[in-house]
Amino acid sequence: MIEFKDVEKYYGDFHALKDINLDVETGETVVLIGPSGSGKSTLIRSVNGLETIQKGQLIVNGQDLADPKTNLNRIRKDVGMVFQHFNLYANKTVLENIMLAPRLVLHRDEAENKKVAMGLLERVNLVDQANKYPSTLSGGQQQRIAIARSLAMKPKALLFDEPTSALDPEMVNDVLKFMREIAQDSSMTMLVVTHEMGFAKQVADRVIFMADGQILEDSPTKEFFEQPSEPRARKFLSQIV
Ligand code: ATP
Ligand code: MG
Repeated sequence: MIEFKDVEKYYGDFHALKDINLDVETGETVVLIGPSGSGKSTLIRSVNGLETIQKGQLIVNGQDLADPKTNLNRIRKDVGMVFQHFNLYANKTVLENIMLAPRLVLHRDEAENKKVAMGLLERVNLVDQANKYPSTLSGGQQQRIAIARSLAMKPKALLFDEPTSALDPEMVNDVLKFMREIAQDSSMTMLVVTHEMGFAKQVADRVIFMADGQILEDSPTKEFFEQPSEPRARKFLSQIV
């Protein structure tokens, strides 16, 4: 579903991604960890074209992002992204936030669109907030709406960049619970940057450790936590758990 082949990314002279090779299969949940500045956001943002790569191939849902002919809008239709700071439309209600992209991009019939949106709000227990504006909701509620908004597009893959880092601790679990449910859908591919190691242990098929723009370890979850082969991964783990 997502395949990096010998990918290099520079910001000017700064070498941000170094020889990235990574394969995320359909249905897999992969957690990406690593110190600040290691390139996690750069890697995940390049998957839906928010960052451009300078070398190598990046094939997402069968299309190569390095090919100028590739239609980014088509990729973004199939690959949703959830950010640390939710990025909901402040001047639209919760319901409108969820209905907007399916209406504009998929031209989904209005009644069907509303049905899908309300179904998603039901899943996250926020039906009663449908007509409110995002700023009146808690961070945890806003993030669940942001995830619901991504799901409304019926994407094949979802990218999460530290979805719980901006939340008060008591709100983290509601968001992780929703993410866990999504990951259980065997057709959904998820690439998640997070420091929530409990989530990684429970949900991830694989864990990837990055440092200095490189992937230093890419192991099945159990193996990663029980016997990380990379000393820097071991050190990193001992510092955060
Ligand atoms: P964090 O855990 O703090 O979010 P990260 O692993 O997500 O870190 P990135 O945001 O991918 O790291 O950044 C990787 C490196 O690239 C950092 O050194 C950062 O300063 C640099 N960088 C990121 N974005 C840009 C940019 N737009 N222009 C120049 N350098 C950038
Ligand atoms: Mg980041």
